[in-house]
Amino acid sequence: MKVAVIGAGPSGLFTLKYLLTAHQYLGVEKIEARLFESEGGVGGTFLARTYEDAELVSSKQLTTFSDFRPKDDDPDF
Ligand SMILES: Cc1cc2nc3c(=O)[nH]c(=O)nc-3n(C[C@H](O)[C@H](O)[C@H](O)COP(=O)(O)OP(=O)(O)OC[C@H]3O[C@@H](n4cnc5c(N)ncnc54)[C@H](O)[C@@H]3O)c2cc1C
Repeated sequence: MKVAVIGAGPSGLFTLKYLLTAHQYLGVEKIEARLFESEGGVGGTFLARTYEDAELVSSKQLTTFSDFRPKDDDPDF
């Protein structure tokens, strides 16, 4: 199966990750997934659409891949 994922914000990145690893957990054929992003990098709103002088306050413990956690001394996002 071929799947196109549109947008490299948090939703698109999660979708891509799970599509690429689905065969390991669900007993399905390997899925060929490709992500398309119109901006110059990944991150969606977190990359390019913040208020001037604002800081993102998401928790690094709660907003993370469970198998790719930040280190204790990494800053919050
Ligand atoms: C000002 C602001 C501050 C925020 N602050 C926080 C915060 O501090 N903490 C927090 O947890 N949440 C915050 N949020 C909410 C958070 O940003 C969103 O919940 C999250 O970004 C949604 O992710 P998403 O992937 O659905 O969409 P988005 O992050 O919007 O990503 C969509 C992506 O799709 C791309 N795209 C769109 N159309 C196309 C197309 N036709 N072809 C290719 N690419 C396309 C866009 O360029 C973008 O990269 C904030 C939101 C805003 C607006």
